[in-house]
Amino acid sequence: MKYVLVTGGVVSGLGKGVTASSIGVVLKACGLRVTSIKIDPYLNTDAGTMSPFEHGEVFVLDDGGEVDLDLGNYERFLDIKLTCDNNITTGKIYQSVINKERRGDYLGKTVQVVPHITDAIQEWIERVAVIPVDGKEGPADVCVIELGGTIGDIESMPFIEALGQFSYRVGPGNFCLVHVSLVPVLSVVGEQKTKPTQHSVRGLRGLGLTPNILACRSTKVLNENVKEKLSQFCHVPASNIITLNDVTNIWHIPLLLRDQKAHDAILKVLNLQGVAREPDLDEWTNRAKLCDSLHDPVRIAMVGKYTGLSDSYLSVWKALLHASVACRKKLVVDWVPSTDLEDTTAKEAPDAYKAAWNLLKGADGILVPGGFGDRGVQGKILAAKYAREKNVPYLGICLGMQIAVIEFARSVMNLQDANSTEFDPDTRTPCVVFMPEGSKTHMGATMRLGSRRTYFEVTDCKAAKLYGNVSYVDERHRHRYESQVNPDMVAKFESAGLAFVGKDETGKRMEIIELPAHPYFVGVQFHPEFKSRPGKPSALFLGLIASSCGQLDALLQNPSQPNKHIPAKISSNGVFSPKVYPNGHQNGHAYKPVKSLVNGNYYANGNGVHV
Ligand code: GLN
Repeated sequence: MKYVLVTGGVVSGLGKGVTASSIGVVLKACGLRVTSIKIDPYLNTDAGTMSPFEHGEVFVLDDGGEVDLDLGNYERFLDIKLTCDNNITTGKIYQSVINKERRGDYLGKTVQVVPHITDAIQEWIERVAVIPVDGKEGPADVCVIELGGTIGDIESMPFIEALGQFSYRVGPGNFCLVHVSLVPVLSVVGEQKTKPTQHSVRGLRGLGLTPNILACRSTKVLNENVKEKLSQFCHVPASNIITLNDVTNIWHIPLLLRDQKAHDAILKVLNLQGVAREPDLDEWTNRAKLCDSLHDPVRIAMVGKYTGLSDSYLSVWKALLHASVACRKKLVVDWVPSTDLEDTTAKEAPDAYKAAWNLLKGADGILVPGGFGDRGVQGKILAAKYAREKNVPYLGICLGMQIAVIEFARSVMNLQDANSTEFDPDTRTPCVVFMPEGSKTHMGATMRLGSRRTYFEVTDCKAAKLYGNVSYVDERHRHRYESQVNPDMVAKFESAGLAFVGKDETGKRMEIIELPAHPYFVGVQFHPEFKSRPGKPSALFLGLIASSCGQLDALLQNPSQPNKHIPAKISSNGVFSPKVYPNGHQNGHAYKPVKSLVNGNYYANGNGVHV
């Protein structure tokens, strides 16, 4: 096993995650099998308890792991399936060491950060690196490890120490350190300044780690003399200094690395030159160019709670993007704060109310993503009602499906008090109920998490067709409540026009709903966004986008070839800039600033942007 460690210097939010994923892409394109590990030095054991508003979305894995959204980058870019152990946190490491201490495994020794915590980190890395993640047997060739945070952070010190020991232990030829740093350009003199990188490399060396490659974030390509200066002061050959300059979309990053022969530098350090072939990145090149050439917009209103931070719904946004590119449309996401659609806002903040309704009415399609708690639920119900009544394409994910069922029961079936027991535990018409897989009396650890199977009950429906007429699908879940329809009422719901087209293996949990008479009204209990990939858009997102731009019929004729229903038209002019305008970015808390998407441009605002 060979290891590539990616660290970050100077400031956080440089796009380390995208850089690390892109390194993986280039190595994969050279014919190597690649896995990845993300280290988050925070104390939380996992991301499950972290607010998406502060930290971005909680990404969910097949095995039910609730992990940092960077693992989503890796899964999407490398088309792999990771396990929860691929995300190491300080919390997990300390928990494992303390558990061992309680069991008496340390035989009376004093348990210390060095060597016990540092040993535990190294053992964890070695154990997880060999888990196959690409569907093939046996371990990958290369494991890309991303260390979260910035060199110098107090909380990452045990990891740095462990990785220093690790690099020595696995030896030269097996370990390559890529340090992602910043080369700012001072507007007064217009000069690319190397000092911050020099300092950060010095810090790295002081902690026992020697960089092999410098990946320098800068607005423009680094001047040769700047490279030479960096080379001299940082003791890194100029050929191993790569510029990560601003590009029009993130799919250019692997190309940028390849063009500067970053793969050659890495392969040389890892002694893999004889094994690897020249990188084949044709698919990435085509996609990056195609994305730049799209001008014709498709507008999707995303009606949610955390609209101040687009990273809160990162995978949903990416899934929409994948589907839009497949439909040859430029994605425009309008974030609609659901509370602004409510009647109380009409009185208290009429301008916000008007703006929210204008966005909703101007949309080609409406998406209500997952969520927890009752704030803004009424606004989401109003959005679902609007979509249903006005025949606007609608995709409801998890909570977005639950509110669609409630809305249907209230408006169409005249069950005025229909509700979810999450919002009204005493409702007389509970159509969404607490349905944990384990205990019904405890709230802790009762989430239904990870991959579960949904069986199609109806084959002649849009969802089944979009999935390619399969009899079941495996998608990822993260919820406590579930639409449950009293068996006596199923017939009434169906005669009123709501079809339950997908259910779990017991037939008790409603997994997919559809309004057959509507152009596209689909609700799913699961989160299809987590399995969407750049070249393989998620079926139901593709359905939403295709229907929003009048392509659904064509797509349904040929659903097995998702992006083949539209002929490719690539022109070289134009910049890809989906309009994503979160109302005010949250930027910066101690360890890692929450990351924002501005203009969809990679690195456009110096913040990390994900794939
Ligand atoms: N709050 C709802 C539940 O727990 C929906 C969760 C979600 O949308 N992920 O079931």
